[in-house]
Amino acid sequence: FPCELIRNFSIIAHIDHGKSTLADRLLELTGTIQKKEKGMNKQVLDKLKVERERGITVKAQTASMIHPHSGRSYLLNLIDTPGHVDFAWEVSRSLAACQGALLLVDASQGVQAQSLSVFHAARERGLKIIPVLNKIDLPAAQPEIVAAQMQSTFGIDPNDVLQISAKSGKGVESVLQAIIDRIPPPQGNGDDPLKAFLFDSSYDKYRGVISLVSIQSGVLKKGDKITSCYTRKKYDVVDLGIMHPEETSTATLRPGQVGFIACNMKESSEAHIGDTVHHVGAPVDPMPGFKPAKAMVYAGVYPISSSDFPKLEESIKRLTLTDRSVEYARESSSALGQGCRLGFLGSLHMDVFRQRLEDEYNANVIVTAPTVPYKIVWNDDKETYISNPTDFPDAGDKNSWKVKEIQEPVVKASIIVPQDYLGEMMDLCFVHRADDLDHRYLDASGSLDSRILLTCIIPLGEIVMDFFDKLKSRSSGFASFDYEDAGYKTSQLSKMTFLLNGRAVDALALIVHKSAEQEVGRAWVKKLHEVIPRQLFEVPIQAAVGKKIIARETLSAMRADVTAGLYGGHYERKLKHLNNQKESKRLMKKVGTVELPQEAFFSLLKTK
Ligand code: GDP
Ligand code: MG
Repeated sequence: FPCELIRNFSIIAHIDHGKSTLADRLLELTGTIQKKEKGMNKQVLDKLKVERERGITVKAQTASMIHPHSGRSYLLNLIDTPGHVDFAWEVSRSLAACQGALLLVDASQGVQAQSLSVFHAARERGLKIIPVLNKIDLPAAQPEIVAAQMQSTFGIDPNDVLQISAKSGKGVESVLQAIIDRIPPPQGNGDDPLKAFLFDSSYDKYRGVISLVSIQSGVLKKGDKITSCYTRKKYDVVDLGIMHPEETSTATLRPGQVGFIACNMKESSEAHIGDTVHHVGAPVDPMPGFKPAKAMVYAGVYPISSSDFPKLEESIKRLTLTDRSVEYARESSSALGQGCRLGFLGSLHMDVFRQRLEDEYNANVIVTAPTVPYKIVWNDDKETYISNPTDFPDAGDKNSWKVKEIQEPVVKASIIVPQDYLGEMMDLCFVHRADDLDHRYLDASGSLDSRILLTCIIPLGEIVMDFFDKLKSRSSGFASFDYEDAGYKTSQLSKMTFLLNGRAVDALALIVHKSAEQEVGRAWVKKLHEVIPRQLFEVPIQAAVGKKIIARETLSAMRADVTAGLYGGHYERKLKHLNNQKESKRLMKKVGTVELPQEAFFSLLKTK
């Protein structure tokens, strides 16, 4: 395939607008995969179990297809992108290998928060954007109104907008046409030295690291000796080919092609995303690389039974081979024993990782409350990043006078919501310490069901817990939400610790804003009181900031007849509780003299 017969493209969209469905349809229409049985939903590109269960794409996948057009065969390379804010980094690296993007918008929902962010990411890279309205088969579809919305939001000419139903297949042929007609072919000369851009990698038990590359110039063949601009390590190309949709070996990879290479790379850290690969002895200028993914949410992960730690660590290490954006370090806690501190791109990323750990490695784990990386600026202007509340300086401890200020990461949030919910959304943002609130109408018309784009600067720590759930419930599910990094901001934060019988439980420490100390302290103490089973003696439960006790409850001692003295609705709850207690007997952690069930850690994560 010469360059002029190649098209490299992505599908970009807000979650659930139909990327995976359209990808399946394109693969079917080009005969790359068999047409699905009626009523079955294959979604070939979403490979991980958790992706299928949650219907989200986590890891970008790539597939090549061949399509005839005006008597010639074209090679179309589809690079699927994830659809969630946490994975914006994956989106940008997938886009780097493309010349064009299909911007898919659900005709019944209209432009949503991630439609905006993926549109801007694609435009920044200078990609040709093909606007596509999907789900026109739905009775609630309003193609004209949404096309007008795309015009006012993106400056897209309504005449350029394709209208399709990815589900029924209607109009999908026109998408293939548009890809060939509108997206420019990749540039690149086969006679120039080899220059390959490494944009993704995965790990295979038998063959080691498999890298996905896009060939910028030159030709790559089996047996070639290659080297990396970044690590300078040398490799022999053992296998290469295209994803059709599974790995399909070919003799060469030529300019403009996207494909896989296997070259006996042992460690996934050798496959540096954004790296440039060239032939040994024929150096080239590296392509502008990528900023490495930055972990924004941290949590401790512990085995339920301490003796399982080696197995857990092994599982985590294997999983991080397939998900390079997870940061990993060992840590230990006096309450939970030996564990790991993991850094994630966001809280969904964390949930996905935890679920994969449970599904694929059958590992039961305790995950501590998520925390964001705080910045301590010392009096001598040195800076320390803290990803574990335990390391946070205590109010009034011996080092605290050296602290000049504490900063927290903030993000620029965009919320798109029907105007009726503007008040609710503003409230929600204020409660979560938002700043610089601003809003404008997305539709030029300003009609009654108009949508509003609300933007604000909000601390990341405020949105990692349950902000998204609140947003959805307070907007009857209509609000969509996205955010981008907006640096650090000075803030009044302190460490809150929880004491059981006078002893701090290190794994429960939290960083709290001054304005929320009382509320958070009381809520968590109450929750602890609910989830900790009664002991043989009385146990005071306290929340403290420095030496100051913010809240206190007392867990009374267990009686001989454990159900005596209970009444009303309380009785049932306690009974259930006792049963739970039986089940979780083997899941107990001992904190000093107090037995703490794993449930305590789980339930606490939900409070705020
Ligand atoms: P993604 O998150 O963008 O990958 O979206 P999916 O492809 O997973 O689609 C989300 C949901 O929308 C699924 O339930 C699809 O069956 C449904 N869907 C996708 N395209 C269409 C369409 O053209 N019409 C209708 N009615 N439903 C669709
Ligand atoms: Mg999908």
